[in-house]
Amino acid sequence: MSNFQFGAHALQASQVFFQTRLSFAFVNRKPVVPGHVLVSPRRVAPRFCDLTAEEVSDLFLTSQRVARVVEKEYNGTSLTVSVQDGPDAGQSVPHVHVHILPRKAGDFKRNDDIYTELEGHDKTPSTDVFRSIDDMAAESTRLEGLFIGDS
Ligand code: AMP
Repeated sequence: MSNFQFGAHALQASQVFFQTRLSFAFVNRKPVVPGHVLVSPRRVAPRFCDLTAEEVSDLFLTSQRVARVVEKEYNGTSLTVSVQDGPDAGQSVPHVHVHILPRKAGDFKRNDDIYTELEGHDKTPSTDVFRSIDDMAAESTRLEGLFIGDS
């Protein structure tokens, strides 16, 4: 069993580029924009309100640290930070996760189109549209190196 469980998905350890005792950050198999990454609590908890105060605090402090790094690395000028909490809000993996997406001027025709993309990007039944393990590992290794001395 993977040390990094994301809902029913056993992640490759090589996808994970940053971790704390309670949270971990990993690269997306189908990013909506370059640098679209995810941050989750270590414990498989489906909903935001399932988290303890300590988990919430750690999840958001970790998300803030990750956001700072990916915005800079991907030459973003803004960020979309999003939680789809529950199936009726578009959550497809029942394990709390924060989407972090670097943004720049004109990246979408209409700014909020990113939410339409987020809703549909991972709903395809075919697996051949997902990034390779090697591709994800390469990005993850690059990001991992950016956390040394970042805070
Ligand atoms: P949501 O639709 O808000 O639940 O988002 C789920 C996110 O998890 C999407 O961005 C997916 O592309 C991503 N995802 C699902 N499975 C994996 C996986 N095994 N590795 C990396 N990202 C994943």
